[in-house]
Amino acid sequence: MPTHSRVLILGSGPAGYTAAIYAARASLEPVMVAGPEPGGQLTTTTEVENYPGFPKGITGPDMMEEFRQQAERFGTQLHYDMGVRVDLSRRPFVVEGEADTYHGDALIIATGASAKWLGLPNEQRLRMSGGGVTACATCDGAFYRNQDVAVIGGGDTAMEEATFLTRMCRSVHLIHRRDTFRASKIMQTRAIENPKITVHYNTEVSDVLGGDRVVGLALRDTVNGATRELPVTGLFLAIGHQPNSEIFKGQLDMDETGYLKVRPGSTYTNVPGVFACGDVADKVYRQAVSAAGTGCMAAIDAERWLAEHL
Ligand code: FAD
Ligand code: NAP
Repeated sequence: MPTHSRVLILGSGPAGYTAAIYAARASLEPVMVAGPEPGGQLTTTTEVENYPGFPKGITGPDMMEEFRQQAERFGTQLHYDMGVRVDLSRRPFVVEGEADTYHGDALIIATGASAKWLGLPNEQRLRMSGGGVTACATCDGAFYRNQDVAVIGGGDTAMEEATFLTRMCRSVHLIHRRDTFRASKIMQTRAIENPKITVHYNTEVSDVLGGDRVVGLALRDTVNGATRELPVTGLFLAIGHQPNSEIFKGQLDMDETGYLKVRPGSTYTNVPGVFACGDVADKVYRQAVSAAGTGCMAAIDAERWLAEHL
């Protein structure tokens, strides 16, 4: 027998849990499918210092544990499963998981996005241990005050992150694998002309150096193959994000990079009764508090839609 609910929520990050808290308090008895990363992206970070309400900061995993308890306290039914196939062509909507099948009269998608990584073993080790590898300058820049850091990438995000980091870091090395940036002209100029930023064109990172913490990068010239080391204490990846929207392809409108499209100022997708919130529908802000905010909006949108239609 499939698990049926008035509101089915996919994803257990800040957006999904906030949607669950609101839907549960509206007596909609939501069912949540937690997905491959219960708690979402914040479970992979150490301190979160910019989420309002935690003046002394809180670790990402502790914060998501509080979110989980709050969602369950009001009656959210949590399933540690992952949606692998969806059918949004009929109601109730169907989500086939690895362990069970779920039906929802309304569906809230909060499957988030994943930063892209270089895939180097030491990069991943130091990322997971909080040793100085991250993909979010807004989140982690303040931990690198007066330090020398590197940003990898040649798009708008890399320009933006590098420029942002000059506010608190001593120096920023902007490392790009080609000799031209793909970033918009205005963002490039802003970065290139910043006296704190040193640009390294035609350069790739072949290894991240350091035991407990990053102490430097092993670099390789992509034109002549020459190798060298660069001492830095922080590494910021800015090589793109991938929204977790693959299973909705062909059923929901998305932009060319896979971000779900919502009606501006709301969480309505192109399928009535299906709502999207958090990073999967947001390529601009990508913050826990903005994800939580749109999670709240999705629950309210779903509640009103159900009241009107079912
Ligand atoms: P996510 O947190 O990405 O959660 C997505 C959820 O969807 C996960 O639970 C996953 O298991 C689930 N899922 C995925 N696919 C499926 C599927 N097929 N079926 C079911 N479930 C699925 N933001 C801040 O505001 N402050 C910070 O200090 C901060 N630090 C960060 C540090 C790091 C290292 C990273 C990577 C991000 C950081 N962020 C920070 C950004 C913040 O984590 C995200 O903006 C926020 O987590 C997005 O929330 P979300 O709920 O949309 O998605
Ligand atoms: P992006 O435009 O896809 O750029 C990714 C960059 O990372 C590229 O320069 C790419 O190099 C590099 N890269 C990818 N994989 C790599 C790898 N394995 N090793 C080394 N380098 C790698 O991504 P983005 O910068 O995140 O931007 C995404 C979208 O958001 C864009 O449309 C952008 O305009 C928009 N955005 C806008 C703003 C703004 O206007 N304020 C800010 C941020 C983002 P190559 O160039 O060689 O492919």
